[in-house]
Amino acid sequence: MDKEQKFIPYGRQWIDEDDINAVVEVLRGDYLTTGPKIKEFEENLAKYTGAKYAVAISNGTAALHAACFAAGIKEGDEVITTPITFAASANCLLYMGAKPVFADIDPDTYNIDPKEIRAKITEKTKAIIPVHFTGQPCDMDEILRIAKEYNLLVIEDGAHAIGAEYKGRKIGILGDMTTFSFHPVKHITTGEGGAITTNSEELYKKLTLFRTHGITREKEELLENHGSWYYEQQYLGYNYRMTDIQAALGISQLKKSDRFLQLRRDYAKLYTEAFESINELVVPYQLDGTNSSWHLYILKLKPERLDCDRKKIFEELQARKIGVNVHYIPVYYHPFYKKLGYIKGLCPQAEDFYERIITLPLFPKMEREDVRYVISNVKDVLQKHII
Ligand SMILES: *Cc1c(COP(=O)(O)O)cnc(C)c1O
Repeated sequence: MDKEQKFIPYGRQWIDEDDINAVVEVLRGDYLTTGPKIKEFEENLAKYTGAKYAVAISNGTAALHAACFAAGIKEGDEVITTPITFAASANCLLYMGAKPVFADIDPDTYNIDPKEIRAKITEKTKAIIPVHFTGQPCDMDEILRIAKEYNLLVIEDGAHAIGAEYKGRKIGILGDMTTFSFHPVKHITTGEGGAITTNSEELYKKLTLFRTHGITREKEELLENHGSWYYEQQYLGYNYRMTDIQAALGISQLKKSDRFLQLRRDYAKLYTEAFESINELVVPYQLDGTNSSWHLYILKLKPERLDCDRKKIFEELQARKIGVNVHYIPVYYHPFYKKLGYIKGLCPQAEDFYERIITLPLFPKMEREDVRYVISNVKDVLQKHII
């Protein structure tokens, strides 16, 4: 190394001058919020995913909350999700007074295992929230079959999966609703931001109401009418609106989505080619018929072949300025969930997975040189610890 190595984060945004100009244009205009950019962003998202409707919202967590509201999830309901996800996928159920039920993951794909979903269904089960973890679509045919059999709604958490494909169709149209996040580490960004896609007009109407306090001004939707000033709060909603400033950034970013995806896929391929023959590692397995959007690249270690645990490897990579990470701590390990009564041992595959994993940097703005640096350093660190 001649020049000083710069820190490589696990993910970050890619903002160009055209993105900045799009935002500035809104700042100079009439509408900072609830303006035409929101509609345009929603139409572009709907077109991109193939969904009939898209609703832009303040963030991916609000998207999940709104989807749970639109699904009619209420106190006493149970909803099945995966423990290997960001806490928001389960928190949204607690917001509604419902109970998250964790189904274990498939040890190969790391996604929720449909067999485990079946095992967790009770007469209280109302919905399933599959998470397309790392960008690899879940086994949706089987999940939709289960949902149909037991009359359950399916809310896909697609925070990792915009642009991902399942059997030739983009994520966003398979279940009843799909949620997305535009946080800076995700595929495209609006700073903070999110969206829900759906093909159902009824769900679409509920989602838009929930985003604005549960208030409607649509004449044909009003229960009463006191005059032309009149609007009506029909539900307890929130202010979860996205600004036009953010939507303008989203419109600009969405145009680049396919280019960003291609870079993620190229870099993931370089990682897999470099690591698949190493006996101390497991590279991500890809389910037939899926085309991942590669939000994350996760290596699974085989600690039984090493003289140390994951922590040591992690810290050594970090010391080499590689922004490794761990996705995720099983949701029910968090003290808040422990207090609710969830206990260790609930999902053995998820727990074993958590002990072994390291997320490597992966984002479109990475240079090939960065990918090569990560590869050579992972190999070098491992080499020192092979038994
Ligand atoms: C990022 C993320 C969310 C939440 O999105 P925010 O925009 O950060 O609120 C939800 N689920 C998963 C799986 C995520 O990765």
